Amino acid sequence: MSHDVVIAGGGPVGLFLACELRLAGVTVRVLEQAEDPRAALKRLPFGMRGLSAPTLEAFHRRGLLDDITRSQRAKHDTGGAPPGAHWMQQARRPAGHFAGIPFFHEAIDTSQWPYRLPGPAGTSMAVDMESLETALAARAHALGVEIRRGLAVEGFDQSGDGVSVHAGGETFHARWLVGCDGGRSTVRKAGGFAFAGTDAEFTGYCVEVELAQPDLLEPGRHYTPTGMYTFARPGTIAMVDFDGGAFHRTRSITLDHVQAVLRRISGIDVTLTALHLAATWTDRARQATAYRAGRAGRVLLAGDAAHIHSPLGGQGLNLGLGDAMNLGWKLAATLRGDAPAALLDSYERERHPVGAQVLDWSRAQVALMRPTPSTRALEAIMRDLVGTRDGATYFAERVWAVSLRYDLGGDHPLVGRSVPDFALADGTTVGERLRTGSGLLLDFDSRPSLEALASRWRGRIAYAAGGVKERLGLNALLVRPDGIVAWAADDAPRLEALAAAAERWFGQPA
Ligand SMILES: Cc1cc2nc3c(=O)[nH]c(=O)nc-3n(C[C@H](O)[C@H](O)[C@H](O)COP(=O)(O)OP(=O)(O)OC[C@H]3O[C@@H](n4cnc5c(N)ncnc54)[C@H](O)[C@@H]3O)c2cc1C
Repeated sequence: MSHDVVIAGGGPVGLFLACELRLAGVTVRVLEQAEDPRAALKRLPFGMRGLSAPTLEAFHRRGLLDDITRSQRAKHDTGGAPPGAHWMQQARRPAGHFAGIPFFHEAIDTSQWPYRLPGPAGTSMAVDMESLETALAARAHALGVEIRRGLAVEGFDQSGDGVSVHAGGETFHARWLVGCDGGRSTVRKAGGFAFAGTDAEFTGYCVEVELAQPDLLEPGRHYTPTGMYTFARPGTIAMVDFDGGAFHRTRSITLDHVQAVLRRISGIDVTLTALHLAATWTDRARQATAYRAGRAGRVLLAGDAAHIHSPLGGQGLNLGLGDAMNLGWKLAATLRGDAPAALLDSYERERHPVGAQVLDWSRAQVALMRPTPSTRALEAIMRDLVGTRDGATYFAERVWAVSLRYDLGGDHPLVGRSVPDFALADGTTVGERLRTGSGLLLDFDSRPSLEALASRWRGRIAYAAGGVKERLGLNALLVRPDGIVAWAADDAPRLEALAAAAERWFGQPA
């Protein structure tokens, strides 16, 4: 049976994209190479991820936040916080870090973000990958996504009206293929996507070990002439070895190798008696120059398949989920045939610059970790700046992505930003109103003319009227299905401008 879309890769990005497409009425098949959903997760000893504001808002707008929290609670049924979240509960609560330099909640001036309203989607949350993927897979199943496990995509052929995807001796036909198959993406390679960027300077290690004499190592972070290591008792060690990324995945990680690297970096004659878990990573930073390619242009990339960078600052997952939220409704409208011209091209136009910024953010952190005296001097200055109120606010704004804005043109400062989670008179919030996956016209003054206008795009634009608790000086807004403001008016709205915005994002009226 042919589907509208085949997604290669059932990681978090592939699963979330599948949910977005299904919500919009598109048929989806996910091909995932791992038989066991947890197999890929076992690669990484440190399964916790920090979710940023756009991700939490996206999950709130699809009713997934509660599912993820429930899934996390079921896994860690002690009732307490999941492992790795303990740092969130300290007296001076770390809010994130830049190259290991922490900034704290207490120092952040949130009044500098005028368009944020309090709501269930906060600015950051720690989640473990297994709980996240469990919740996303359950939602995908509930929506009717077909997930085939144990099938690795090997290649594909494109024609003018579809793609034939080859996996495990079978061929799957679809109108579109999206590669969500991670940093080593087969779809990216088979599709001939250029992958431009910078090569690795270091190999990073995350290991869980047993030490003959744990007291030889001082807990905490240590910069040394050959790299950096952090040690947490009893045996969790992270290391950065400036070897040009030479080790990464060239050999399997042995106890002897980890011990040798730890001795060299720490300068201490430690002995490891057991190696329980180990993962390596590098600061290689590359991005596909185009997110849509092939002669017929029916193949797209999202998530790590489209961009890779070091996990410093933990933004890769958020970046990929943001791709999925941006792409889903646009590809669905294209498939339905009601997309305005070039809607699908706006996916790359909006998301590529966001990816490029994240790559640079990770590169800037690498620059602050190099084992040289001048880098240590620079780091001391950065530490002072991060410690100021404006510094902490700046870093929180970047790490939590609270001020993310797409350049959609227009003068209004809210256009291109995430819609504030207004509390509507009927007790619902804007986030809840977006759960159907359609656009939304918010009319705080309940005008029949605006309701009539929305009805011309029935099924694509819902209409919500009435006063709100806090309207932030606004009168009416048009919101895209991904929660991005497409048009906004502070005063009495001009109907022609609103209709033009509706046509630009939702196509011709019915
Ligand atoms: C140590 C570490 C810490 C991190 N911390 C954070 C953090 O705090 N916050 C954050 O935002 N990000 C973090 N990241 C990054 C984040 O984990 C990734 O960006 C994210 O997992 C990408 O999701 P994805 O779905 O695009 O790719 P993946 O998670 O890699 O999923 C790809 C899926 O595709 C499958 N696949 C691969 N090839 C094929 C094929 N040929 N056919 C079919 N299936 C295939 C794989 O089995 C896998 O299931 C961290 C990464 C590391 C390594």
